[in-house]
Amino acid sequence: MTDVQTATPQEAFELLMAGNQRFVTGEPAHPNQDAARRAATAPAQRPFAVLFGCSDSRLAAEIIFDRGLGDLFVVRTAGHVTGNEVLGSIEYGAAVLDCPLVVVLGHDSCGAVGAARAALEDGTTPAGYIRDVVERVTPSVLAARAAGYEKPEEILAEHVRNTVDLLLDRSRILAERVEAGQAAVVGLCYRLADGTAQVVAARGLDVPVALSA
Ligand SMILES: [Zn+2]
Repeated sequence: MTDVQTATPQEAFELLMAGNQRFVTGEPAHPNQDAARRAATAPAQRPFAVLFGCSDSRLAAEIIFDRGLGDLFVVRTAGHVTGNEVLGSIEYGAAVLDCPLVVVLGHDSCGAVGAARAALEDGTTPAGYIRDVVERVTPSVLAARAAGYEKPEEILAEHVRNTVDLLLDRSRILAERVEAGQAAVVGLCYRLADGTAQVVAARGLDVPVALSA
């Protein structure tokens, strides 16, 4: 398998999207999932991307990007909301493990986004710490509303873009790596039905961006 340790942000992005393409077309290669890879990666990990996505059970990272052991440094929370632990984990992947790519992965029919919309529309307040998750999605829904977005895919794209911006605003380590060309941050909107992932934000990477604000 390709040694991707020295990959540029662009190469890492292409590698990731090639895997998604294999998954979409129903021809996964299941790379790096055998005993040889297990043995090779046991002493040290060299992932080529940090994947920060929603916890949704249908968003299993290594499956939808057709990767294996040691490929992705995965951080997932409901609605890909961030807190200090999340930021620290992403910084660890980017700066300590030297990943050239950080991906924010949102998806359609996201329960957290739906709950934030419901909370704004009819005042539904979730119980316990679920409320904390929903409150962290709310600024994105408000921003989408202010921009006049009504379609669910536009609201999701806004939330993914906001998450990308939030990572770069709050993490100086990440922002400096993007500025230096050592890393890129990409926002993807995933469609549950067909498995495709569309780029809606790109920082430090020159790729076509859909649904841009
Ligand atoms: Zn979700």
